[in-house]
Amino acid sequence: MSSDSGEARKAAAAGTAANDSVLVATGLTAGYGDVAVVRDLDLRVDRGEIVALLGPNGAGKTTTMLALAGEVQLIAGSVELFGAEAKGRLNNRARAGLAYIPEGRSVFRDLSVVENLRLGSGSVEDALEIGPELAPIKDRKAGLLSGGEQQILALARALASRPTLLLADELSLGLAPVVVKRMLDALRRAADGGLGVLLVEQHASQALEIADRAYVLQRGQVAIEGRAQDLQNNFDELGATYLASG
Ligand code: ATP
Repeated sequence: MSSDSGEARKAAAAGTAANDSVLVATGLTAGYGDVAVVRDLDLRVDRGEIVALLGPNGAGKTTTMLALAGEVQLIAGSVELFGAEAKGRLNNRARAGLAYIPEGRSVFRDLSVVENLRLGSGSVEDALEIGPELAPIKDRKAGLLSGGEQQILALARALASRPTLLLADELSLGLAPVVVKRMLDALRRAADGGLGVLLVEQHASQALEIADRAYVLQRGQVAIEGRAQDLQNNFDELGATYLASG
């Protein structure tokens, strides 16, 4: 690809709201060793926008998140965060304003809720305001919390650090619908305050309810992209064609 077409493509990936984009990935190709698992992805997240990344098991959603976070190396393509080329691993990108909640429980099980919150870069008070249900259990070891409480802890810790972009991978995996709703609502509020969010979510319909836009991955490539509302309106077809496992 010539640098001219590279620039043109980057502008197209950024869309019309280039100045507001907190993430622009262009031609992102990444995988394990030299085997590409996701290929040629163009993705964008704007300030204040929730973007859902959907797709069946094995489509490459987690690999995409890891590549954006700097935890899986790019084979080709580029990632811009906050208007500058993303370099280095997650700790570098976190300093620039990226928060990443990986798949699976990401709390320190032997530490109390408050100790977990102190390890974040935001204030404990802010985190307890974001997750008020944590206040009565703040001295309990995180490993003794329910799955939902642990995820609320992970989310509150991440949001209290006032990131500019949050990558959240399967935040609600295995949780009751009411807890899923509470967490997605918290994300929507944070996005309304300016946070950009890229959200991998098995509860696709619930994710589309709070998302602005979505990408659907299939076998490592973007099969569909569009406004969340439009995808929600065609959800039956979307589910049958693109979201079924296998
Ligand atoms: P799920 O919804 O099941 O979590 P996903 O869309 O997040 O799936 P990935 O976890 O990104 O998909 O996996 C995409 C492909 O990459 C799969 O075929 C998987 O087997 C492969 N893969 C994932 N992790 C590794 C790894 N560490 N080494 C080699 N291959 C991997």
